Amino acid sequence: MSTASVNFNAFDRLYAERSSDILNAVDGVGRSGWFILGKEVLAFEEELARLVGARHAIGVANGMDALTLALAALGLRPGDLVATTPLSAFATTLAILRAGGVPVFVDVDDQGLMDLDALEDCLRARSCRFVLPVHLYGQPLDLDRLDALRAGHGFKLVEDAAQAIGARWRGRACGGVGDAGCTSFYPTKNLGALGDGGAVWTSDAEAAEAVRRGRDYGQSAKYVHAEIGMNSRLDELHAAILRRAMLPRLEQDTSARRRVAAEYRRRLASPRARFPKGASAEASVSHLAPMRVASPDGFIAAMKSKGVEVLRHYPRLIPDQPAMAEAEFVIHGGLEKARDWSEHAVSLPCHPFLTPEEVDRVCVASLESL
Ligand SMILES: *Cc1c(COP(=O)(O)O)cnc(C)c1O
Repeated sequence: MSTASVNFNAFDRLYAERSSDILNAVDGVGRSGWFILGKEVLAFEEELARLVGARHAIGVANGMDALTLALAALGLRPGDLVATTPLSAFATTLAILRAGGVPVFVDVDDQGLMDLDALEDCLRARSCRFVLPVHLYGQPLDLDRLDALRAGHGFKLVEDAAQAIGARWRGRACGGVGDAGCTSFYPTKNLGALGDGGAVWTSDAEAAEAVRRGRDYGQSAKYVHAEIGMNSRLDELHAAILRRAMLPRLEQDTSARRRVAAEYRRRLASPRARFPKGASAEASVSHLAPMRVASPDGFIAAMKSKGVEVLRHYPRLIPDQPAMAEAEFVIHGGLEKARDWSEHAVSLPCHPFLTPEEVDRVCVASLESL
C-alpha cells in the first residue's frame, strides 16, 4: 500500500494540469500592458453573470469584501439587524460587522443549512432588514422558500455562495436569486484562483454601480469620491486566469467532486458515520464532503496516523469566537443543532484531483477509524 499521504487539497496537481493555460493568461495580461480593471475583468464578469443568470457580476478582491460591499450597496445602515447562520466561515459574520450590521444568529437544520422555520420565527419576532444565509458545503438552500419569505417580510436577501458556485435549487442558480449573491475565488473554493478574489452578483443596476464604486475608493468619476469606499479590485491577472484556465473546467471539476462525495456516502454511511440527506444534499456541488461522527478529534487523529488529512467545518460556532466579545450580536432561539454540527462534523478530502486509489484509501482508513 502506498504511504504517500492524502491531502485535503492538491494545488500542485492543479498547476501541473493547467500551467500552460495559466501561463498564457499571464502572458496575455503582461503583453496588454493593462493590469487593473481592464478588459479581462470585464470579460470575466460577463461570463460570471451569465453563469447564474444575473444582469451584473462585479469582480472584487475576496469573498468577504464581496459580502461587505453588497450589504453596503443594498443600503445597510449602522445597527441594522442581519439574520445569518452561526455555522460558516467567520468571514460571513465579519462582513456583516464591517458593514455596520448586527448579526442575528438563527439555528441550522439537519444539513447544516440555516433552518428556514427558525428564520421565519425570527422574522416574526424582529425586524431584520437583511437575511444573509450560506449555501454551506455546496448545498443549495431552498431558494423558492427564501424568495417567498422575502416577499412576505420585505428584507434584502444576500446569498453567501462562496461554497456553492454552480449549485442550483430546482433550476434556480445559487447567487442569482437574492438581491445580491456573493462568491469567493479563494484557492480551495470550487472556482479557485492562484490567490484571492471574489465577486458580487446582482440584477439591480443601482446596487451594481454602488459595488463598482465601492471597490474603487468610492469613485463615481475620475478623482470624484462620492462615498467612503474601499480598495477591493479583482486583478486583471486573476480575472484572466479564472476565465481562461479555471471557468472552462468548472463543470468537470464539480462532477469530479460529486463523484468523490457520492463514493464516500455509498461506502461509509452507517449509524456511526452520518451524511446530510435531502433534496439540497443531492443537488450539492460538493465543495466539502461533511460526515458526522461521534468524536471528531479521535477520528481525525486516527486518520492522520493512516496518512489522510481530515478537517472540521466548523469546530467553533461564530458567536463563540473570542472576537465576538467585542461585537454586538443577537442569538434568536437556541443554537442546539448548530452546536451539534460543530461538535460532530468532519470533512473528508474532496477535490477534483483525487485518484480512485486515494478515494479508496480514504474509505478504508475511515472504516478502520470509525
Ligand atoms: C471562503 C468563504 C468566505 C470568504 O471568502 P474569502 O475570499 O476568503 O474572503 C465567506 N463565506 C464562506 C461561506 C466561505 O466559505
